[in-house]
Amino acid sequence: MKKNHDFKVGDLIIYQNGDRFEIGKIKRMVDDGAFVWYSTGETAAKTPFDVMHKLSNSYVITETELGGRDAKKAITEEVQIHGAMVYGCKDCMSRWIMYLEKGLEEPGCDDRKPVPFGIRCPFCGGFHAYDISGYLRIPGNGYQALPKNASYFANLPDRDCGVSRISGMMDSLDEHEIPSARIVRETR
Ligand SMILES: [Zn+2]
Repeated sequence: MKKNHDFKVGDLIIYQNGDRFEIGKIKRMVDDGAFVWYSTGETAAKTPFDVMHKLSNSYVITETELGGRDAKKAITEEVQIHGAMVYGCKDCMSRWIMYLEKGLEEPGCDDRKPVPFGIRCPFCGGFHAYDISGYLRIPGNGYQALPKNASYFANLPDRDCGVSRISGMMDSLDEHEIPSARIVRETR
């Protein structure tokens, strides 16, 4: 089976279905395959890695209608992550994963920026949530798309430090820091 880091969001691929071939564009990576756009509509079909083939000269195709408007939006808004850190709250004992955008705490990166050791807890709203794991690299040593419904530190060009983007429905938090999603709650 091909490893998932052979592919990334936005790649053009060839899907082989028996003796039929179709071109597609990757919308989202999952553990055992990817969701791929095969038409100009916004519906992507789950496709296993072993029937996906890389298009080695895909750079010659600069524009496609695959995925329609949805594709253009998703790919420009894509956040690439390389690692994660587990944060824990000393007040309410919640734990959750904060993913790290490209350039944050990234080993070997020239313009590497740190992330805060302590952040506000999205569960109780207290200010005693700390890094309890240190840097954890995602499997495969590459980049991957931020998982859906995940929280992360964003690498903003005008900031010297990662900015926490908490996802979820915790209304006690600043609106600017809450994209629509849910915290991965590990243990309690
Ligand atoms: Zn808390």
